[in-house]
Amino acid sequence: RATAMIVIGMAGSGKTTFMQRVNSYLHSRNQPPYVLNLDPAVMHLPFDANIDIRDTVDYPEVMKQYNLGPNGGIMTALNLFTTKFDQVLGHVENRAQSVESVLLLPPDPPPALTETALTPSYVLLDTPGQIEIFTWSASGSIITDALASALPTVVVYIIDTPRTTAPATFMSNMLYACSILYKTRLPFLLVFNKTDVEPHGFALEWMRDFEKFQDALLERRRTHGEEDGPAYMDSLMNSMSLVLDEFYKHLRAVGVSAMTGEGMDELFDAVQEAREEYERDYKPELEKIT
Ligand code: GDP
Ligand code: MG
Repeated sequence: RATAMIVIGMAGSGKTTFMQRVNSYLHSRNQPPYVLNLDPAVMHLPFDANIDIRDTVDYPEVMKQYNLGPNGGIMTALNLFTTKFDQVLGHVENRAQSVESVLLLPPDPPPALTETALTPSYVLLDTPGQIEIFTWSASGSIITDALASALPTVVVYIIDTPRTTAPATFMSNMLYACSILYKTRLPFLLVFNKTDVEPHGFALEWMRDFEKFQDALLERRRTHGEEDGPAYMDSLMNSMSLVLDEFYKHLRAVGVSAMTGEGMDELFDAVQEAREEYERDYKPELEKIT
């Protein structure tokens, strides 16, 4: 069975570029993925999507008809798309089935396995630029839950590494990740992107050892003064770094560059581990409910 990867992250963190990179990496390894684009507002998609929300919903028309601004338009487009998501899942599952029948009854001579005849090993989802539209909407939850009950599903949280080197920014990013982890309860993978610009070693160090984070906080205060906020914030962040320590233990983190392709092998090792976690922890819970 295929593994689904839901790609989320702040606007500009590199989700779309990451999708493009993962897509071409899998193609080069003869494992073309099944790709879904859920961003109705994207102008140009740098990869071929099997299912594109833009084919179902005309986003500018939705804005006009319902008299909405950009965010309301994206939200409504996603809601309209969600009403069809059972059909979308049907497509994903059909694709796997048609292949099984090919493999069970090979005609003589057997057909060459073309790209379209292969079972996709991965289903990739790109999500709207504004993260909260997916993570804090009913539609986002419905899509996530439906997918996770049909396929092993992993949440891939993309972080803009060069923009998260300040301790306070790092902490708010991790708190956000934490809230999504507890909301979805799915296996979770932190992906520090743009390592070509900024290696992610500092982030791993802060996650491994909160004293290193606290040192960095002190150092930042010394060099930047009140630029990041009043000094009493530091004691709050010191305490939070202790709280997050527990959260970090349950996370996998890898560094990649969606631009250069660095880190792709490590990424897929981590996805494999996350998939095992799904089978071990998430699926039994699911079976209890259904
Ligand atoms: P999205 O809003 O999360 O979909 O982000 P995009 O994929 O559109 O990327 C935002 C910007 O970051 C673009 O200018 C990308 O070229 C750039 N970007 C994405 N990944 C990388 C990376 O690994 N390295 C560098 N240097 N730039 C990147
Ligand atoms: Mg994008």
